Amino acid sequence: MLYSEIADVFDRLEGTGSRLEMTSILSDLFRTLEPSSLRNIVYLSQGKLHPNFHGAELGMADKLVLRSVAFVSGVPESRIDELWKKEGDPGKIAESLIKNRKQASLFSEPLTLEKVLKNLTLIENAEGKDSQDKKMKYLSNLLMDSGPVEARYLCRIVTGRMRIGAGSMTILDALAEAFGTKADRPDIERAFNITCDLGFVAETLALGGVDAVKDIKVAVGSPIKVMLAERLPSIPLILDRMEGRCAMEFKYDGIRVQAHIGKDSVKLYSRRLEDMTSNFPDIAAELRRQCRADEAIIEGECVAVDPDGNMLPFQNVTHRRKKHGMDKAVEDYPVKIFMFDILMAGGEDMTVRPFEERRSVLERTFDLSEMVKLTTMEIINTPKEGEDFFGRALGKKCEGIMAKSLSEGSVYRAGSRGFLWIKYKKDYEEALTDSFDLVVVGAFYGRGKRAGKYGALLMAVFDEETGEYCTVCKLGTGFDDAFLDSMPDMLDEYISEERPRMVDADMIPDVWFLPTVVLEVVAAEISLSPIHTAAKGIVKEDAGLGLRFPRFTGRVREDKGPEECTTVNEALSMFEMQSQNKES
Ligand code: ATP
Repeated sequence: MLYSEIADVFDRLEGTGSRLEMTSILSDLFRTLEPSSLRNIVYLSQGKLHPNFHGAELGMADKLVLRSVAFVSGVPESRIDELWKKEGDPGKIAESLIKNRKQASLFSEPLTLEKVLKNLTLIENAEGKDSQDKKMKYLSNLLMDSGPVEARYLCRIVTGRMRIGAGSMTILDALAEAFGTKADRPDIERAFNITCDLGFVAETLALGGVDAVKDIKVAVGSPIKVMLAERLPSIPLILDRMEGRCAMEFKYDGIRVQAHIGKDSVKLYSRRLEDMTSNFPDIAAELRRQCRADEAIIEGECVAVDPDGNMLPFQNVTHRRKKHGMDKAVEDYPVKIFMFDILMAGGEDMTVRPFEERRSVLERTFDLSEMVKLTTMEIINTPKEGEDFFGRALGKKCEGIMAKSLSEGSVYRAGSRGFLWIKYKKDYEEALTDSFDLVVVGAFYGRGKRAGKYGALLMAVFDEETGEYCTVCKLGTGFDDAFLDSMPDMLDEYISEERPRMVDADMIPDVWFLPTVVLEVVAAEISLSPIHTAAKGIVKEDAGLGLRFPRFTGRVREDKGPEECTTVNEALSMFEMQSQNKES
C-alpha cells in the first residue's frame, strides 16, 4: 500500500472539524485495509508504532527532525530554526520546504507503508552513541521519497504529535461503523478498555468480526483501563445512593499501580499505563513472592512510609517517579502497596464478578507482608458507622474514604467513572468543591514581575461526548518562581500556531497549546460564566461553568493524560454537589 494514500486520509481528517465526518472518513479507509495494515495505521494515526503502554517510543526531538528537513531540502539550518520559532510545527515546515524543493532525488520512488514502518522501526531501535545520527539518517531517507503532505505526517509521527484530532473514541466509532453496527460499539469499547490496545482490537475485528472481539479476555501484560469514582458531598448521601449498605475503604494518597503478575515476571503500570516497574522494583518482587497464584492482576496504591512504617504525604512517593537514580530513591523512600482490587486471578477474569467476591479472592490470593497490604475495609450500615470510619481514615493520614457498592452488579467497570465507587475527602467538608485536574490549552504573557514569562494559563476540562477541551478558568495563582521558570520547558513543545481544533474556547490566549499537560487546581467555587465554554448552555442559556479564584496546588498530574483530566460531566456534578453543600 502506498503511504501517500494514508497521508491523504490524515490530511482530510485534519481538514474537518466534524467528528461525524472524521468517523466516516476513517471507516471508509478501515474497510479497505488488510487486517495487519489496519492495526499499524491505527497506531500511526496516534503518532505511534505500538499501543500506548508499549515502552518503546519514536520520540524524536523537534531539533533533530528539523536537521533531517535541512538535509533533505538543502535549506540552511539557521533559516529552518527561524521558521520553527514562528511555526512551532516541524511537520508544516517540512511540508512547505519539500513543496519548494527544486528537484526531487533522481532515485526517488513512491513510499510504501511497508518502507515507512521499516524505517520507523529502525528509528525506534536506534541505540548507542551515534543513535541521533542514525535516527536522522532513517528519517531523511523517508523524506527523500516524500511529497509535501507525506512529509508533514512523517515529521509528526516521529515527534508523536499528529494534530489530526482523531482520538481513541473517534477510532472506536469508526471501527463499529466499518465492521459492525452502532449496537456493537459497547462490546468494541469494552475490548479496548480491557486491553488498552486499539490496534489489536481493530485487527481482531477485521479478522473475526464482533464475535472475536467479544472473546477478548483480560490478560497479564495488557493493561486494563482503570475504574474511577464519583463524588458525593456527605456520608448519608453516599449511603442513600448505595441502598443503605456499602463497603468503605481508606482512601490512600499515593500512586495508583496496576500490577500484572506473571509466572516469573511482574510489570507495574501507572494509571496512564506507563510501565513503572523500574520505579517500584521492590514492590514488584514482593508481589511475586507473596502471590499464591501463577498469574494475577491487582490494583493498589503505593504510599511512602517512614522508618516506623507510618504513611507519609503524597510528595514523598513522587521521588519514585523519577527516570534516573532509582536505586537511591528505592533506598531513601521506602513504600508499601495497599491492594484494593483484583482483576484477574489464576487466569480467570475477575472484572465481571461483584465487589465482595473480588475482595475475598484478593484476600485469598496473597500472603500479606510488611510491604504488601490490603486497604483497610469495613462494611458500613449506618451514617454513624460511616462517620466513625471516615474519622479513623483521617487519623491514619488518609485523604478520606472510598465507598464501594455491594450490589449484584458491582463489577469492575474498566475505563468508567460511576457511582459503584464514591469518594469522599476531607476537603469536601471545608471547600465547596473537590480539586480539579485541568489541561493547559493556552498561555498569556506576563506583565510586571512576570514580564518575559507566561503569566497565566488558560485551563480546560474534557468533554467525553464531543472529544473537545472546554475552558473553565484563567489560572495565574499558585505559581512559585521555579514553576514560572519551568513553564516554557514544560509547555513549548506543544505550541500550536492556531487554536487546536479540539479546543473549544471564547477567550483567546497569546499562545495556544495542544492539550497535553495536566495541573491540579483548587477553586473557591464553580460559578456560571459567560466567557467559559464548559457545559455551555446546560445550566443556563449563554453561560458555561467557570472556576472562581482558581489556584494551582503545585501538583503536575504526570500520572494523567489529557483525556483523564476532569470532565465536563464531573464539573457539572461538582456544581450540583456545591449547591447541595450550600443548602445544607
Ligand atoms: P484523585 O485525584 O482524588 O486521586 P482520581 O481522579 O485520580 O482522583 P478517582 O477515581 O476520583 O481518581 O479516585 C480514586 C483514586 O483514589 C484511585 O485512582 C486511586 O489512585 C486512589 N485510591 C486510594 N485508595 C483507594 C481505594 N481504597 N480504592 C480505590 N482507589 C483508591
